[in-house]
Amino acid sequence: GRAGVALYDAKRVGFGGMSIHDGYYASISAVRQGIMNGEFHILYQPCVDMRSGRAVGAEALVRWNHPTRGPISPVEFIPLCEASGSIHALGHWVLEQAVSAAAHWNAAQPPGYEPVGVAVNASARELMTPDYADRAVALCQAAGLSVANLGIEATETDFGTASDNVMVNTEKLRAAGVVISMDDFGTGFSSLERLTRMRLDIMKIDRAFIGTIGSATADAPIADLAIRLGTAMSLGIIAEGVETREQADWLIARGCFLAQGYLYARPLPLDDFVRDWVNIEPDSTWWFASNPRSL
Ligand code: C2E
Ligand code: MG
Ligand code: MG
Ligand code: MG
Repeated sequence: GRAGVALYDAKRVGFGGMSIHDGYYASISAVRQGIMNGEFHILYQPCVDMRSGRAVGAEALVRWNHPTRGPISPVEFIPLCEASGSIHALGHWVLEQAVSAAAHWNAAQPPGYEPVGVAVNASARELMTPDYADRAVALCQAAGLSVANLGIEATETDFGTASDNVMVNTEKLRAAGVVISMDDFGTGFSSLERLTRMRLDIMKIDRAFIGTIGSATADAPIADLAIRLGTAMSLGIIAEGVETREQADWLIARGCFLAQGYLYARPLPLDDFVRDWVNIEPDSTWWFASNPRSL
């Protein structure tokens, strides 16, 4: 009741801005129940080839519509899920949904179109579980998605976690044909030495370094360096957070052709992403009759 809520709020005195109550709402049982109750959903943000304007893939971004707290940002709840251990259940669910969705949208494309992949974020905690890579590959097989159309993203800091399993999983995923992306490049802790030692497919330049392109200081030395480093290492390069035409033109001029950002699209509900960014016949009721949401 109302008094209970007030008492609850009054007890939210934290250490370091956090209290045990914050972790409690993302506990294993709460997240499991939330999954069953449909409190979570996934938005898909297109990764666009800026030259053609077409999507080459989508990033799956989870959302939590909490029954009492309302919509919560993953920036807030993912760290709590990591702390409570519920990240494993949540991460598996996201992977399953995203893989199944991508299997469906690729199957529904008319022949002759390039596949549209899906990328899923993985936390260090997930990469530390011995069976992560095997589960990801098994989910692709079960859904009928080519592993080459699945990407796994983690940050420099996550990839650098001192656990043999992280490296084993990453290597296993890559050997199976899954695309490995380093997320938020430039913001984490990693030496350039380790970057060259790690076998990556894609570098995603953090939006902090994209936002300064075309600003008053008119300088984006980190984005410039990252593109040159990524190019020299033969990596795919994705610019995160592209919001203006000027930023897009600056990136294209330097050989970075892939981008995610509000200039092209915000993260979208599955049906909107498929309608606007995947080549499905407009009169095809097949997708809407069989899409994963109604399975
Ligand atoms: P991320 O993986 O770096 O995802 C990119 C974030 O940038 C997303 O925030 C996206 O909505 C936002 N973004 C994209 N384009 C623009 C733009 O043009 N301008 C601005 N200002 N923002 C843009 P979102 O969806 O809030 O996700 C935040 C973070 O939460 C993600 O960062 C990722 O680290 C984490 N996350 C989201 N879903 C999952 C998940 O399923 N598992 C895990 N482990 N982490 C997740
Ligand atoms: Mg990401
Ligand atoms: Mg990122
Ligand atoms: Mg990020």
